[in-house]
Order: sequence, then structure tokens, then C-alpha cells
Amino acid sequence: MVFACVLLAVVVIGFTLVVRDQDIPPAPVENPELKHLQERRVVLFENLKDLQFEYLQGKLSDEDYQSLKLGFQNDLAVVLASIDMLREKFPQAAGNADEAAAAGKAIPESTVNVSSKCPACHGENPVGHRFCGNCGGPLG
Ligand SMILES: [Zn+2]
Repeated sequence: MVFACVLLAVVVIGFTLVVRDQDIPPAPVENPELKHLQERRVVLFENLKDLQFEYLQGKLSDEDYQSLKLGFQNDLAVVLASIDMLREKFPQAAGNADEAAAAGKAIPESTVNVSSKCPACHGENPVGHRFCGNCGGPLG
């Protein structure tokens, strides 16, 4: 039990330091609030991972594990909700990388390499298609 208390203290102190570190530097990005939230999300995911690791090693009691996990998950839920909110407010600034990844998934590489461009909307279409999958226009 003493060990659990010490561990809890270490986790709390470590967590506070991490959060403070992120608060101090004024990051020159378009949307620092979103970046901060995304960094926090990563930290929380890592904390959860560490917590699970320690629990699996038998360093934590069920009770401690559950309560710590719940705390991280609550924080995570708040962070994720804030990220969603920011994305709705600033759809342009938010997560260009995510959008690029989503676009990459939507068009498999094999079809990108052998594609014909729609003359109307410049959408990529697999070779052999007669009509644009994007706008429905005829392909040259
Ligand atoms: Zn088209």
C-alpha cells in the first residue's frame, strides 16, 4: 500500500511536470490549442499503457489500477471531446495530416497508379471506367 501511494505520487508529479512542460513553450503553430490537446492525448495514451504494464507486472492493486485508469480515461474523454469541438470550429486548421491519411485510404495506391483523370472535376478514376465516380461526368 505504501508503494502504491508512492507510485501514485510519482505519477501525479510526473504528469504535472509533463503538462507544465507543454504549457510553457509558445509553439508557433496555426492552432496551438489543438496541438496542445493532441499532445495531451498522446501523453494520456502513454500513461494508460504504462499503467496497464505496471498492473500486469503486479505492481498495482486492482483498486489502484481501476481508479488511476478511470482518471486517465476521464481526462482522455475530455481531451478527445475538446479536439472534436475544435475540429468542428476550425475544420481547415484541424488535422491536415488526418485528412491526408483518410484521402490516402479512400484511394488505394494500385488504382492511383493506373487512373484516368476526370476532365470536369479532375477526380481520379480507375482505368476502364467510362463515367467519373466523383461527379458522374463522362471520362475522356
Ligand atoms: Zn468528375
